[in-house]
Amino acid sequence: MRAIYGPVPSWRLGRSLGVDLISGKKVCSFDCIYCQLGKTREKSVKRGVFVQTDKIRTDLSDLLDTAGSVDIITFSGMGEPTLASNLQDVIEVIRKITDLPLAILTNSSFLHLKEVQSTLEGIDKVVAKLDASEEELFQRMNRPHASISFEKLIKGMKEFRRGYEGDFELQMMFTDENRGYAEAMASLAAEIKPERVEVNTPLRPCPVKPLGREEIKEIKEIFERKGIDTISVYESEKIEVEPVNHEEMRRRRPG
Ligand code: SF4
Repeated sequence: MRAIYGPVPSWRLGRSLGVDLISGKKVCSFDCIYCQLGKTREKSVKRGVFVQTDKIRTDLSDLLDTAGSVDIITFSGMGEPTLASNLQDVIEVIRKITDLPLAILTNSSFLHLKEVQSTLEGIDKVVAKLDASEEELFQRMNRPHASISFEKLIKGMKEFRRGYEGDFELQMMFTDENRGYAEAMASLAAEIKPERVEVNTPLRPCPVKPLGREEIKEIKEIFERKGIDTISVYESEKIEVEPVNHEEMRRRRPG
């Protein structure tokens, strides 16, 4: 299986070439109720090498030759990309191959680790997941590995945000489960001070029903009243690109 896929259309990132550092089967520290990759069978916090750095180098060089126009390279795929302990090496390899900007979609569970913080500082755009405002809701929405607490996650996120000079976004997925917490989530977002917040709802096939346009609009307004620059999935303009195969569709991360 190729470790690079796309380019895929992203309502936030443009034409994005995806780098899947997990590849093969899903490995994640969360088991989110809306995950389009299905249930997490291997819920893990053990960092390691899932795809060899040389394979990324070869696959990326091959795809860049044929992919046409690409706006950005995004770490995403079959699980949490910061589980890959060779992320730093991969960034260095990609920087030698292309000048394209780099982004990562992370579930934020390892932002408290100094090693992960310093690696992500080498990425132009960090999109960090936050779907809750308190421990109990976090457990219900994201069903994290037993070692991950909401308090630790928020502490790590705030610490990372303070030192990070790139473009930092919060990605917040809303469903029936957490829509009643939008006010508290907006207050927490205001404390974290992201560049912007993406208010999202699961529009791709998954076990959970998305919220409607009106509900998302109301949630967006709650964030805007706190002075937060906010974008929502329903307002985005869809970007047309070549159709991709089914496997590539799956590897696009939710949101
Ligand atoms: S949505 Fe992302 S963080 Fe959540 S289980 Fe799926 S891959 Fe992991």
